[in-house]
Amino acid sequence: MIPAKALIILAVSYSAAAAALDKRAHVVSCADPTNNELITQEFGNAMNMASIASQYIAQNGADPLFVSYFMTNDPVAVKTKYDQIVSDVGPADIYCQPFPAGRNVNCSGLNALTRTPSGNIYLCPSWYNLADQSALCTQSGLASTRSGTIVHEMSHAEAGTHDHNGSCSGSKTLSPADALENATTYSCFAREVYKKTQC
Ligand SMILES: [Zn+2]
Repeated sequence: MIPAKALIILAVSYSAAAAALDKRAHVVSCADPTNNELITQEFGNAMNMASIASQYIAQNGADPLFVSYFMTNDPVAVKTKYDQIVSDVGPADIYCQPFPAGRNVNCSGLNALTRTPSGNIYLCPSWYNLADQSALCTQSGLASTRSGTIVHEMSHAEAGTHDHNGSCSGSKTLSPADALENATTYSCFAREVYKKTQC
């Protein structure tokens, strides 16, 4: 039996978690209920991965995994980027198609894109074909996930990143300065940490 006091503590920690969710500034704007639910779920997965990556850096600093992606960068500088993603100051929207009239979004060759300085994120048709979160644990290689793409886009929206290299292997060949501001680097490292610590 769980003592009443423990239940109260559980209730308090749950409401704190709910409050943390509520402060997220990106709003899912998608009229299709099925896609709205999927996007909301994957956005939560992405924010969870970014939070786990931040905690991993706090605990492990410049370990071999960190150095493989971020080289000589200060772990604090990288952790700050993940914390900016998790903090999500917005305000901004995450759109599914049809996109709002007049936005002139070209999805050719893209899973998603982010406009700055608005921070609005547009999810393209190919985003839906990416793997779900569980693939990070079930695939032998590093799965390309919908959540990973959202980490990439949120790094543009909240942490001022750019697109220097779009693959995980290519991300490891960048200069330290470019690695610190490369969006895909944040997606790859977060997925690697998730696979290493959560599966
Ligand atoms: Zn990008």
